[in-house]
Amino acid sequence: RAYNFCAGPAALPTDVLEQARQEMLDYQGMGLSIMEMSHRDKVFVEIAEKAEQDLRSLMGISDDYAVLFLQGGASTQFAMVPMNLLGEGETADYINTGQWSKKAIKEAGRYGNINVAASSEDTNFSTVPPQDSWQLSANPAYVHYCPNETIGGLEYSFVPDVGDTPLVADMSSTILSRPIDVNRFGVIYAGAQKNIGPAGLTLVIIRKDLLGKAGAHVPAMLNYQTHADNGSMFNTPPTFSWYLAGLVFQWLKKQGGVANMAETNQRKAEKLYGFIDNSGFYSNPVEKISRSWMNVPFVLADANLDKQFLSEADQAGLLNLKGHRSVGGMRASIYNAVPEAAVDTLIAFMADFEKRNG
Ligand code: PLP
Repeated sequence: RAYNFCAGPAALPTDVLEQARQEMLDYQGMGLSIMEMSHRDKVFVEIAEKAEQDLRSLMGISDDYAVLFLQGGASTQFAMVPMNLLGEGETADYINTGQWSKKAIKEAGRYGNINVAASSEDTNFSTVPPQDSWQLSANPAYVHYCPNETIGGLEYSFVPDVGDTPLVADMSSTILSRPIDVNRFGVIYAGAQKNIGPAGLTLVIIRKDLLGKAGAHVPAMLNYQTHADNGSMFNTPPTFSWYLAGLVFQWLKKQGGVANMAETNQRKAEKLYGFIDNSGFYSNPVEKISRSWMNVPFVLADANLDKQFLSEADQAGLLNLKGHRSVGGMRASIYNAVPEAAVDTLIAFMADFEKRNG
């Protein structure tokens, strides 16, 4: 298989895909695929429960939290968070560190008062505003931030301290990449298609005391309480994505869990940034302390070479290195399933390209 640096839907572990392939037509001798099975079948319910238990053990999620397996992507969470947590006349605080924060802010603005408590737009999102500069409102309903901005490649090196205010995090592109203390958060959400599994599944981890706050006008499907009360089976859940996420969680446990992944991820990222910083040909604009372990954007000294770079990379089996359409340049997404050998191969390719064209 090629090395896939796509930002999402992203690479999945080959072992996981191989297992899914073996089970595709005939799940454990039952004569049908997981995709063709009722979500209420005992066999699927066991798969679903095991996936949740494995996630709970990987992330250290206590019984104080509900884990929801939803649909609609992280983009739907941009709306569900304020619909469920922002009461009449209340204010929510948002930190603006990039394109995904901005989308969350824009969407939340439909539902109530939003205070942008800090922004790094003036540095073109190359920094994380230090917490002592945040202008939090007096009594916010929650504080929302995006720990890892997938497009800009900016990642917080700290978990904000907001006291008793619920902290809400869009962890789409950082979840499971390093250990985090879930108890610091009110809500964590993530689209699955980066570090969890196939697109179509959205994970929400919510502290149980935050359930039941949605107004009567909030549709049942967009109310966290509905899904918590029904084990995420109020309606038909994305069964195949849920199953595959479960296989990814088992794979992660076999790799030694999130702490081990973090060591590898840090090493992968440091190698790539180190190479970029030492070259006169490639560059990355993000302040060192806030560089993402998962998404590494970089530009070539001469943008006229971009096309050639991408086409030669493709031929070398290094796929999907094109940067997001809003920023251009390149981006190597190096999620959990991207092996260290992929990063080594990419660096060797980049060094050779620079030698020939620099
Ligand atoms: N938030 C972040 C940080 C993302 O990277 C993405 C997608 O790439 C989204 C939100 C949007 O996710 P979805 O496409 O699942 O709605």
